[in-house]
Amino acid sequence: MVRWVRFADMLHGIRPSQSIKLFIFWIPLKKLFSRTLLSIISIQLMEKIISEKVNCLIIGSGPAGYTAAIYASRANLKPVLYQGIQPGGQLTITTEVENYPGYPDGIQGPEMMQHFEKQAARMGADIRYGLATAVDFSSHPLKVQIDEEKWIEANAVIISTGASAKWLGLPSEQRLNGHGVSACAVCDGFFFKGKEVAIVGAGDTAAEEALYLSKLCTTVHMIVRKDTMRASKIMQERVLNTGNIKVYWNAETDEVLGDQKVEAVRITNNKTQEKTTIPVSAFFVAIGHKPNSDIFKDWIDMDETGYIKTIPGTSKTNVEGVFASGDVQDKIYRQAVTAAGSGCMAALDAERFLGEKGLH
Ligand SMILES: Cc1cc2nc3c(=O)[nH]c(=O)nc-3n(C[C@H](O)[C@H](O)[C@H](O)COP(=O)(O)OP(=O)(O)OC[C@H]3O[C@@H](n4cnc5c(N)ncnc54)[C@H](O)[C@@H]3O)c2cc1C
Repeated sequence: MVRWVRFADMLHGIRPSQSIKLFIFWIPLKKLFSRTLLSIISIQLMEKIISEKVNCLIIGSGPAGYTAAIYASRANLKPVLYQGIQPGGQLTITTEVENYPGYPDGIQGPEMMQHFEKQAARMGADIRYGLATAVDFSSHPLKVQIDEEKWIEANAVIISTGASAKWLGLPSEQRLNGHGVSACAVCDGFFFKGKEVAIVGAGDTAAEEALYLSKLCTTVHMIVRKDTMRASKIMQERVLNTGNIKVYWNAETDEVLGDQKVEAVRITNNKTQEKTTIPVSAFFVAIGHKPNSDIFKDWIDMDETGYIKTIPGTSKTNVEGVFASGDVQDKIYRQAVTAAGSGCMAALDAERFLGEKGLH
């Protein structure tokens, strides 16, 4: 009975293809080997599946993950951090960062993230390449699979996997990204103070970003695909009552124009097919973000768009021992400094949790 339970446990942690192979081998194995031998094989396979045990596992290497790593290291939690496919996170694809405190002259995004990494490593965080590809939070210790291969057991897990901006998918948008094309008005609007800019989107975030830009820029050209906006009534009213926001209804973006930097945007009215070229210095895309939370969806409570829900005022999720920080749980602020702040919260919450459980 014990051996069967072990075998079932073992199957729980492996991919379907592996389970089929094991099942096919099971019948001849049963005939060939004694139960004792089978038990030894089971134990060996199980050791392969759970190949490492760690105290605190941090998933993600943006401002949230690295800050969690700094605090967790200094609290002697011996954190292991997996960087994911974008070591350093979203700021590695931007140029100047002017709003992160402590850099009076501003700093390039990639350089700032190197500083984060260096500081976390100096405190003793074990920083590794690798992607979390699956989790099993059904019991404690928590299980996280890395690169579809090895499984790690962790007493506490901090999720800091961020969110990705959605783009229109135009080649010119990609080419001029960071040269006037941006997905963050709060981050980059200041660089276009006193200039004309365009923004595409029609939801609450787009409305909020258009209003933010209207206080810095001379004219904000707002491109809306339909003849209505998705934004709440109050936000729509604020947009429509702001003198320097000009809304283009039924408008599709054809192309962002410019050689080295954004110079204009060409749109087509999808009812009349009329084309208009609007001279602008920047093009903001505000059509939404996608939180990188897919692998957690069977275990962690999320809102309808995939943002992880945390208990207000904490980084705690619905699963004991699992904490979330940064953009993956923040659909409102989405800034490096707020991500870092919540990374600190997650490490402190993890430390308290481990202390209460006698694991630290
Ligand atoms: C172009 C641009 C410019 C910006 N400019 C500014 C600015 O000037 N100032 C500012 O304050 N904010 C700015 N922001 C916003 C800022 O970058 C984010 O708010 C911040 O990076 C969020 O930090 P985070 O740690 O939550 O996530 P992210 O920075 O998104 O990092 C997420 C990390 O998780 C990792 N990851 C994801 N999935 C997995 C997985 N399955 N396994 C392992 N790792 C995983 C990724 O590899 C990445 O390292 C900008 C954003 C963009 C896109």
